[in-house]
Amino acid sequence: MAGSVDGQMTGARRRLVELLRDKGIHDISVLRAFDLTARHDFMPTGVRHRAYEDTSIPIGSGQTISQPYVHARYLETLALTGHEKVLEVGTGSGYQTVLLSHLVAQVFTIERIAALFNTAREAIRHAGATNVSMLLGDGTVGWREYAPYDAILVSAGGPSIPQALVEQLAEGGRLLVPVGSKDEQTLMLVTKRGGTVVSREIAPVRFVPLVGTQGWDRE
Ligand code: SAH
Repeated sequence: MAGSVDGQMTGARRRLVELLRDKGIHDISVLRAFDLTARHDFMPTGVRHRAYEDTSIPIGSGQTISQPYVHARYLETLALTGHEKVLEVGTGSGYQTVLLSHLVAQVFTIERIAALFNTAREAIRHAGATNVSMLLGDGTVGWREYAPYDAILVSAGGPSIPQALVEQLAEGGRLLVPVGSKDEQTLMLVTKRGGTVVSREIAPVRFVPLVGTQGWDRE
């Protein structure tokens, strides 16, 4: 019965929110965004039963939906207030895009793989998010038309901090980007204040490669 499956999913989602809280996520608006967003709607049907496990899961085209805890760390680190204009590089499944849509005023998101872009567009529409704009292309060069951004989240790991993204940060803006090798990276937080750019290390992470002009040549 569709109703009972939905009920099971809702129960599992509640438990995921509790797990995130137990793991140290305290921002109430971040936890609320997880409670409002059906992760199973962003996953291929064959793996939906695993939607509320705190793990990354393959979504096709060699890519993965990130671990919920990693999304939560990203979102909590940015200390969002609800008024921001945000750029996301690497839409992937569109799950984090919808989490963001609950937390900020406007979301701009870029994905380079057409198949994922199209699936994510449907999932984002299905979720009812109306403050999201999407672009198929190379996110390492940002999206100049709508810059500057109060926050930029990069969901794939590059060899260095993409300079175009630093340039597209607003005054007081924050950029989160994994930097390192193709296998392991360090999540870097870059802030821009009074014309000065400061970067600091947040945590060791493992992301799929950031492929583009200011990323890797290929996967
Ligand atoms: N937050 C997403 C993460 C998906 S994995 C989720 O949880 O679903 C990272 C995504 O970044 C992949 O879909 C990959 O295709 C995309 N990507 C890699 N390099 C990119 C680039 N230069 N521009 C845009 N998207 C990119």
